[in-house]
Amino acid sequence: MAAKLPNSNQLPELNIVKVEPVLLHAPIDTPVMTSFGTLTKRAVLLVRVEDAEGAVGWGEVFGNFPMHGAENRAHLIRDYLAPITMSESWDTPAAAFAAMTQQSHIMTIQCGEPGSFAQAIAGVDIALWDLAARRAGAPLWRLLGGEGATIPVYASGLNPRGFEDIVAGKLAAGYTAFKVKIGFGRETDLAALAGVRQLIGERRLMSDVNQSWDLETACANWPEYSEFDLSWIEEPIAADQGLDSWRRIAALPGAPVAAGENLLGDAQFDDYIASKVLGVVQPDMCKWGGFTKTLPLAGRIIDAGQSYCPHFLAGAIGLLASGHCLAAAGGGGMLEIDANPNPLREQLTGALPAINDGRMTLPEGPGLGAAPDLDLIRDFQSKG
Ligand SMILES: [Mg+2]
Repeated sequence: MAAKLPNSNQLPELNIVKVEPVLLHAPIDTPVMTSFGTLTKRAVLLVRVEDAEGAVGWGEVFGNFPMHGAENRAHLIRDYLAPITMSESWDTPAAAFAAMTQQSHIMTIQCGEPGSFAQAIAGVDIALWDLAARRAGAPLWRLLGGEGATIPVYASGLNPRGFEDIVAGKLAAGYTAFKVKIGFGRETDLAALAGVRQLIGERRLMSDVNQSWDLETACANWPEYSEFDLSWIEEPIAADQGLDSWRRIAALPGAPVAAGENLLGDAQFDDYIASKVLGVVQPDMCKWGGFTKTLPLAGRIIDAGQSYCPHFLAGAIGLLASGHCLAAAGGGGMLEIDANPNPLREQLTGALPAINDGRMTLPEGPGLGAAPDLDLIRDFQSKG
């Protein structure tokens, strides 16, 4: 059965009096490499909402790329979305999502920034759902209809070189599935796949091309790369290549195709789902949709017999939100957890739940079950 949002009589009315973007930075020792660009520091954009009774909710906005994109999204929240969110009271966060989308529509076209606004709206939506669940006294996964708090996870973001210590640490920490970044040329890629495969034995291995191949390269590489017994190969080509190109890849023998972090909107996701080109669909709820759009989408993915595996690679709030969305949707897909050191993920809300035999159990507290430490927020706000 498709995952469904609770209706308004299951939710407290939301009368929001404050909406604040909270931009955090953290230096990192080892740059995080992808085939299209490198992160030399970490940025996380949070959203804090407060209602008339002083209850607070937290959300997170995609802010990895471009380098100063998070600053822009912070201004979009402050200048456009905060006034809309505080303009009336809401029966459900979904009503606020609809109002933000509708009232910013012309501006998104005028400034050519549908993606930036979609990311900012997603973060406000997550904060409103956190607040609603806190007011209702329930963890989000339960409020949203989930059957349990335990979800499969995988260690993601392994660089194509220098991954040995991280893999060893994550094996010791209880991870049983790993994803390595490729798309750096055959020699580097094949060495990375062989190296990680050797370290993890028969555990699950995935790889992420980050859109760096053309169709011809993807078709040439697919069978050979798949021989590493890959659970999926992710974003082999540009996400906007058109479904005919994706169909060609999906028809090749070998690993299933994964994508979704660079799709935007119900219509685009539904085209991909209906065309059956993806075995694994990976919406990033901090990039588009929040809970309001991603949970129903997850239901449609699972109903179509495809796997819903949330994409996420930033801070603790977005990670917990993605975990709650997966726990609510069910379906057995895995949550992406960045394996690289990042204090904005590892420290911001205190220790994240432990991993046991490849699974994480979400906190029992209401809402997301955790909130940022205010002293750490002040500290990370000063590192921009
Ligand atoms: Mg990816």
